[in-house]
Amino acid sequence: MIQEKYAPHDIEAKWQKYWEENKTFKVEMDKDKPKSYVLEMFPYPSGNLHMGHVRNYSIGDVIARFRTMKGFNVLHPMGWDSFGMPAENAAIKHNIPPKKWTLENIANMTRQLKALGLSYDWDREVTTCKEDYYKWTQWFFELFYKRGLAVKKESAVNWCDNCNTVLANEQVIDGKCWRCDHEVVKKDLSQWFFKITDYADELLKDLDLLPGWPERVKTMQ
Ligand SMILES: [Zn+2]
Repeated sequence: MIQEKYAPHDIEAKWQKYWEENKTFKVEMDKDKPKSYVLEMFPYPSGNLHMGHVRNYSIGDVIARFRTMKGFNVLHPMGWDSFGMPAENAAIKHNIPPKKWTLENIANMTRQLKALGLSYDWDREVTTCKEDYYKWTQWFFELFYKRGLAVKKESAVNWCDNCNTVLANEQVIDGKCWRCDHEVVKKDLSQWFFKITDYADELLKDLDLLPGWPERVKTMQ
């Protein structure tokens, strides 16, 4: 008998449980199949998914499932862009440690992504604030440093004396801190810089290798 009415709580829960138990979306090395890497983006764990996330990840999920059905070995991972100033600012605002705040948000958003039934290989989840991920960032940084591509120098930043933090330009509103309205000052701080200009000519030259790109976009690059 065909059920006339769509009952998401029955149907979706049933299949999500099946996918989880059978590791349906787990991906292994398979040299016989063509490879396909489907990455939407790693969200910042702000607390809850919003409709922009749902749209973005649904589209990626359709592509991942389509390619799987076409016979590709699809790697479709999920992770969290969970380091840096947003976590510090949120921790100050909510008065809780950044680690607790971040990990609780990740747990909640993972629950929400799973309820959407997206086809991720959760065994490959990465969380950029965890040591098993950022050890690689540190490894890269050391390489940059040894090759003279990471240099330290003094530079002026936006500083709020009340929050004791650096502020991004967008967080300075009419010369005041977006969070506490305190006057923002320029402060010289010792900072790291990457010498990306060393690669400017190479990047410019290789724009010729991108046929089909609009001239307007190339000019912007
Ligand atoms: Zn402030």
